[in-house]
Amino acid sequence: MAQERIEAKCPVCGREMEVSDVGKLYGAVAAKPRATSTYKDKTYYFDSKACKKEFDESPQKFVKE
Ligand SMILES: [Zn+2]
Repeated sequence: MAQERIEAKCPVCGREMEVSDVGKLYGAVAAKPRATSTYKDKTYYFDSKACKKEFDESPQKFVKE
């Protein structure tokens, strides 16, 4: 059984986080995302609600494609 480990970076402030259920079991995790947002079918993770708010107001500012 594969253990999925996703690393995410807050698009607003650049803080790195780890997104996984594995972390819950072992307790050894870096920052955990406190909020998520979906933009153009992609999920973004944020380390704080403030970052999510800023992203939601103008996502195009933070997403470069
Ligand atoms: Zn942030």
